[in-house]
Amino acid sequence: MRRATFIAATAALAYTAAAARAQDEYDPAMGTTATTQRLRVLLGAGPVAPLPGGGFTFRGRAYRGRYYRAPNGEIVNLLSLEEYLYSVVSREMPPSWPAAALAAQAICARSYVLQRSSPRRAYDVVPSELDQVYDGTRGETASSRAAVDATGGMVLRYGGGFAQAEYSSCCGGHTEASSDAWGGTPIPYLEGVVCPYCTASPNYRWKRRIALPQVEASFAAEIAPYGAMTALAVSEADASGRAKMIELRCERGSAFVRGMDFRLRIGARVLPSLLISQIGNASQAGRVRIAGGGLGHGVGLCQWGARGMALEGATPEAIIAFYFPGVTVTHD
Ligand SMILES: [Zn+2]
Repeated sequence: MRRATFIAATAALAYTAAAARAQDEYDPAMGTTATTQRLRVLLGAGPVAPLPGGGFTFRGRAYRGRYYRAPNGEIVNLLSLEEYLYSVVSREMPPSWPAAALAAQAICARSYVLQRSSPRRAYDVVPSELDQVYDGTRGETASSRAAVDATGGMVLRYGGGFAQAEYSSCCGGHTEASSDAWGGTPIPYLEGVVCPYCTASPNYRWKRRIALPQVEASFAAEIAPYGAMTALAVSEADASGRAKMIELRCERGSAFVRGMDFRLRIGARVLPSLLISQIGNASQAGRVRIAGGGLGHGVGLCQWGARGMALEGATPEAIIAFYFPGVTVTHD
């Protein structure tokens, strides 16, 4: 999940909820404020056909529920939140993982949607990692359906509203504060915790080499006054140890960029996380060695940590309480 891109995608909408309603007699007052109500997933443009026994196919994949065509021709899937989660849980977490970890994932994924949905927008979520990965019935497994059913209606709440249920793959030993990851006001239950449970992740510790020409190309405007790059350094770290500011050292001075911008621009797959423990000078070939830990933004639930806790016998509620201190799990 990447919040910045989510907001950008929402702002790029070319049609309104009222226009969508006209196409389908969909009543946004039904909303998605309760788990029994209809969720709107923007699937995009492509061939669509109803299935005889209910549901439909879109780009050759089967989906539950109904659909309508937005004025710009894009297809929106209408289905219950619980049906949507059947697909999401096993796309966002390996379905072979322990039941308690999958249940914690289901609670987070449900809360993620409810916290963001608004009848004032033309749709609730997109089916990719910009929100949560959803690909219809193909994504469903017996274990994901069991995790959703076992946690039916369970959501994270804080201070009278839904909590912001962030999650990412592996925190590398310390989850991240939302305010450090994305800015904004600190959120009491998303300030970061020490996590001893995710050491089994293949990304718990990693090493990468980053080519300086790639960095130069990504930050050409920033380094323009200073000449060619010679090295990278972490100039400021946050409480979790993640890089808050990155120094781009050049021949005639340095440019400084925010850690989140650095990872976004050079690519989240090039740099697994901002929990950087070592960063060196460039080799003659213009490559910089970087060592670090974790995969993803690190805010909220650590998925590999949830797996580790579940293997030690923790309940879904205990997993949630560990990663979201002060949040309550209620039945919506
Ligand atoms: Zn962790």
